[in-house]
Amino acid sequence: MMGIIQKDLPNNTDLPIIIVGSGFGGIGMGIQLKKAGIDSFIIIERENEIGGTWRDNTYPGVACDVPSYVYSFSFEPNPNWSRMFAEGPEIQDYLLHCVDKHNLRKHMQFNTAILKASYDDFSGVWTLLTDQGEQLQARVVISAVGGLVDPALPNIAGIDSYKGEIFHTARWNHAASLKDKKVAVIGTGCSAVQVIPHIAEEVSELTVFQRTAAWVLPKYDAVISEKTKTLFSKWPILQKTVRGTLKWGSEALGPFLILDSEKLSSVFEWAARRNLKKGIKNTDLRESLTPNFQFGCKRMIISSDYYPTLEKEHVSLETSGIEKFVKGGIVAKDGTQFDFDAVILATGFDLGLTSAPFEVTGAAGRSLDEAWKDGAVAYKGVTVSGFPNWFSIMGPNTGPGHTSVIIYTEAQINYIVQAVQHIQENDLKSVDVKQAIQDDYNEGLQNRMQYTVWTSGSCNSWYLNADGSNHALYPGFAHEYTARIRTFDPIEYKVCVNEGISDKPVLEAVV
Ligand code: NAP
Repeated sequence: MMGIIQKDLPNNTDLPIIIVGSGFGGIGMGIQLKKAGIDSFIIIERENEIGGTWRDNTYPGVACDVPSYVYSFSFEPNPNWSRMFAEGPEIQDYLLHCVDKHNLRKHMQFNTAILKASYDDFSGVWTLLTDQGEQLQARVVISAVGGLVDPALPNIAGIDSYKGEIFHTARWNHAASLKDKKVAVIGTGCSAVQVIPHIAEEVSELTVFQRTAAWVLPKYDAVISEKTKTLFSKWPILQKTVRGTLKWGSEALGPFLILDSEKLSSVFEWAARRNLKKGIKNTDLRESLTPNFQFGCKRMIISSDYYPTLEKEHVSLETSGIEKFVKGGIVAKDGTQFDFDAVILATGFDLGLTSAPFEVTGAAGRSLDEAWKDGAVAYKGVTVSGFPNWFSIMGPNTGPGHTSVIIYTEAQINYIVQAVQHIQENDLKSVDVKQAIQDDYNEGLQNRMQYTVWTSGSCNSWYLNADGSNHALYPGFAHEYTARIRTFDPIEYKVCVNEGISDKPVLEAVV
């Protein structure tokens, strides 16, 4: 062991764990820490309520396109889901229930945004600066800030000159009535497809600006009967079986949605074409709605009311592209001018999975942006070499293309609990994943990535960085990822004991 200056440091139990974000990730993390007997954590939330995605997305029609029995915590089953694909408010209620049941509110600090986090090599302590002017100290930081949070606003000429209502789906303006108004929706991704059928019912005219046609499969939604809810309450094993069936069913379909194989993709393309033919009778419109990329390259969309809505008389699809905004509306690339009372931006999100959530400075003064300048990398998506005791939930390459993200989130939470226990039980100063271990993991991952449909070059999507690399999704099965991350192995980490302040930076004072 290298030289140690014997100075008193707060021991690990005096230093809280800081969790940043109170969406699915932060809430699940809090529950599992408590179950492990660890109570010394704070959850920092920049908004005034928990929920993340499900707090922010309140647009009409917001719902999950993954069945609720698998888009929820396995350790907190809800026998009372009202439908197969729960709507946004019901998911938010579920999260509120989780928080209350596990008494997490006393751990929450709301209306506080983290501006900066920096690691001190000598003490092994993270200091987090908040927008309230506080400096919070922690031994362990868990970033649970979510991936699809900050709206991506389109860079369209003249957008600021438009004088009507304009807002993003994730920041819905409930004060603005759309009743009998001329409305535009820009975008045809998952959010747009959910919102369009709902607002079409009240607006006088609806114009949908489509840049890229999407593959759409039918949504087999269903109301859950009272009898089923009672059965699930009485016999949780039944619900567990349903969850397992849904999980393994999506795993079976994984190769069709993940691999760059025209043969495999053609199966879903056939089903989506059939859905298009059934939903759209007008052949010109059908032609405009036919995608020109391989199925799965962009996130698949499921909806049974999108196509029928587009055939309504007061709804039109505009595909010539947007030239600019003007005071009263939008000018299309073909010169047509449209006047609108309101424009809804369903233009997606700035991806948060693959960039530093705020200014993060790790060991030896290296920033996370610098470490990720060639693309975000982490070990198993959770730890980053040179950023001791820093953990991410839904970090780089942890998104699924075929199943519920919650399966991955739970696996990460379980891994982080083990790491925290290891730090606390051994009174460690730090654990820092070895660079070679991280490099090996990511080399293997990126090798596999070249066989996926996401990097096939057939489309552009939020999965990809500007250079076409994918640092967002995991190129494999959920069961395989969860098996890989099941056990925290300290051998893969540089481990530093907490014997006082080292006269060497932590990275050198390795035992
Ligand atoms: P998205 O999938 O990124 O779609 C954005 C849409 O806006 C695309 O159609 C895009 O066209 C279009 N667009 C962006 N900038 C534009 C511009 N300047 N001019 C014209 N069109 C423009 O965003 P999203 O629909 O919000 O969905 C994002 C992700 O959130 C989804 O992939 C999904 O993972 C998640 N989500 C999930 C659910 C759920 O039910 N679980 C619901 C909503 C969202 P291009 O295709 O040409 O880029």
